[in-house]
Amino acid sequence: MHAGMNPAIGPAMPMSKSAAREGIGPDAELMVDAGVCWGNDVEKVLERAKTFSEYRLTWLEEPLHPDAIGKYGELARRKPAVPIAAGENCGAVRAAEDYLENAGVNFIQIDAGRIGGITPSRIICEQAQKRGVTYVNHTFKSRLSLAAALHVFADVEKFRYLEYPAAGSRLAFDLVKGLERDPKGMVSLPERPGLGIEVNLNVVREFFVPVRIELSGQTIFQGERL
Ligand SMILES: [Mg+2]
Repeated sequence: MHAGMNPAIGPAMPMSKSAAREGIGPDAELMVDAGVCWGNDVEKVLERAKTFSEYRLTWLEEPLHPDAIGKYGELARRKPAVPIAAGENCGAVRAAEDYLENAGVNFIQIDAGRIGGITPSRIICEQAQKRGVTYVNHTFKSRLSLAAALHVFADVEKFRYLEYPAAGSRLAFDLVKGLERDPKGMVSLPERPGLGIEVNLNVVREFFVPVRIELSGQTIFQGERL
């Protein structure tokens, strides 16, 4: 979970740069998501990484633009003071391979819903294993998509990072029940076949919106009502 979501950090209070580390305590893992804010500026990332290193980050995420693979490679060669994570924007296997081959990241963050599903994600999971890069799940949709994404890496013990929203819409949370964290912060997969979860059809009915597609005034598709 991102430190920013941790209620221990508290709302709008003046914060020192050590507030996140102080808020979660000395043992919890702390990640900082830079949200691509330094674009192509490797110098800036090196400088900020040095500042952050005092607070023992697990990773500094997306410090550069998603397409700046060459700059990520340069950053890696210059050995930033904290580990680097990136990849959640990858929309194809080749894009994620580019990160693994040329960006020198320590963590590859894959969104199964963006990269094309379970199989493309699994290809990257296996390549990451071979290269000593840690696969991290990124899911920012419903618990249903989370159930699918979990199956990509659940058999790899050392891949234990699961990034998903701790808060969000009712649809995202109520569509599928379960998949909650246990007291150790781990999520277990059900033993049942398929995704192992059950979709709540009452929630589907509640949020269902019939779709009609028109072309030049002619209806070419009319969805059924549930
Ligand atoms: Mg992110």
